[in-house]
Amino acid sequence: MGSIPTQTIEQIAAANDIVEVIGSYFPLKRAGASFKALCPFHQEKSPSFNVSPQRQSFHCFGCGVGGSVFRFVMDYEHLDFPSAVKKLAARVGITVIEERSADGSDDRQHETRRTLLQLHAEAAEWFHENLLKREWARPAREYLKQRGIDRNIAASWQIGFAPESWDAFLNFAKERGYRRAEITQSGLVKPRDEERPNDSEVYDRFRNRIMFPICNDVGEVIAFSGRTLGSDAETAKYLNSPETPLFRKGNVLFGLHKTKRALIDANSAIVCEGQLDLITLFEAGITNVVAPQGTAFTEQQARILKRFVEQVVLCFDADAAGQKAAERSLESLLQNDLVVRIAEMPAGEDPDSIVRRRGKEEFEQRIAEARDFFDYWIEREAAATDLASMSAKMQLARKLADTVARVHDPIMRSEVASKVTARIGVTPGDFAALLKRPTRNFAPDLQEARTTPTPAPRHDVAMLCLLALRDTEARATLLATDWRAVLAETPDAELLRRILESDLRPDDPASINVFMSSLAPGEEALVSSWLLQRVPPNATAVARDWWAGLEQGAVRRQLQIAEGRMRIPQLSAGEMTLLQKQVVDLTMQLAELSAASPARVLDD
Ligand SMILES: [Zn+2]
Repeated sequence: MGSIPTQTIEQIAAANDIVEVIGSYFPLKRAGASFKALCPFHQEKSPSFNVSPQRQSFHCFGCGVGGSVFRFVMDYEHLDFPSAVKKLAARVGITVIEERSADGSDDRQHETRRTLLQLHAEAAEWFHENLLKREWARPAREYLKQRGIDRNIAASWQIGFAPESWDAFLNFAKERGYRRAEITQSGLVKPRDEERPNDSEVYDRFRNRIMFPICNDVGEVIAFSGRTLGSDAETAKYLNSPETPLFRKGNVLFGLHKTKRALIDANSAIVCEGQLDLITLFEAGITNVVAPQGTAFTEQQARILKRFVEQVVLCFDADAAGQKAAERSLESLLQNDLVVRIAEMPAGEDPDSIVRRRGKEEFEQRIAEARDFFDYWIEREAAATDLASMSAKMQLARKLADTVARVHDPIMRSEVASKVTARIGVTPGDFAALLKRPTRNFAPDLQEARTTPTPAPRHDVAMLCLLALRDTEARATLLATDWRAVLAETPDAELLRRILESDLRPDDPASINVFMSSLAPGEEALVSSWLLQRVPPNATAVARDWWAGLEQGAVRRQLQIAEGRMRIPQLSAGEMTLLQKQVVDLTMQLAELSAASPARVLDD
């Protein structure tokens, strides 16, 4: 991926007023010059979350998070930096053009992605138009109507229809000017000879199917899932796009771009099987829903989900196949320390039919009553076993131990173990022996740890950071000094060095937002706290005084080092002379500096 030019980032920061952006997520109350709210990043009773319209930054005095408008969108929406930039760019209608790498490989990849995204967007529109307008889509419309999907819902999810044809989509895409190779790469057509995709004939992959666009985090269409309208037992009920440069199976949760806010708020995800279940629930106002699309949760999907929630409610279809599917999801869910609960659906019903026929309340009731997975499962297995037989009992214990061993969290694991031993009547020692050490067989969690603000530097350095960030004249005064040399001799001055190096302009919040986006989250939180502090009225004079203190401190430190060296035994006469001269020079420098300015010095 290319990088986004600084001017563009600055332009986007300038166009997105932070009060408006944050205010679009939750209400802000004016409090003097700034705005306040209950912090969305930690639990609190009185508001310590501050938004400054002047500084265009936010900061929470409770948990210490803070930063630019980009940081807010990243943390609140769980996006990475480029996605947050694009989201804010889209909000104000700015087009983001990324800079390309020199060798052109990024260039081509980027170009391919962009073309495929464009093709998917146009395809989604075309399928959707088909559904709404074509006579031949009538059976699809009728099917959806009977499932409770009206025109508005279809529009909101851009549901479409792929006609019963071998080349209708292919011809549409060609007419739109896409090349054969691009159309093939999208996965929306299929080569007759999969071995030779580029010189074999191709045909439409999706035929006579209701089309559900699958979107990425920011809502761009990256693939499709098609539900067949035919009753032919040989055609798969659902067909998904194959893997493409845009779409990796098992990496996407259907509907997440619309539901993630609700997931975070509820801290719990209702997992349903298909797109239609999800859409019905969502439109009925039950919005903390996800669908793994495919039968079971993959490791990657469980990991994505863990970013938003701690608990998962699986809707168990009463039939055996439904139970199997849910059970297959367990391992990845448990390994990610998600608490799993089971909501049983009455025979022959799924979430969609319950909501439509029995009402939303009935469904919510079942979710509220969902049982802990292990309670449900131990009960079910125990009921099917003759516990009077020792061998049957140990066999069951072994089977349960296999699953319990997959629970990664030690506290949760020991709780489950004691439930098992109590229910089936084996000793804790025997059961513990059956539990092998669980292993996590996937890469360590890549998710960033919760932001802890970087500790503030010493007071003198912190004051200079504040002044260099906030006051144009003070900043210019500092920049006119030999600051690099002085800071090289000053401990704890890394952030101050970066503030001075940056071309931020204290009176331009957008440029400060750009600077903040170059920092680690903890540093950004620290900077955001300085942005909310009061600047002393005589900023330049104060900066000069503290700076004089740093200069003297740097010389004093060098002096101490030189004096220390003189005590090293066996110095040559030449070295000794050199050090003595150094000490004299430094002592004079220090005297001059002290005479010249009323330095503020930390008494340390
Ligand atoms: Zn907070």
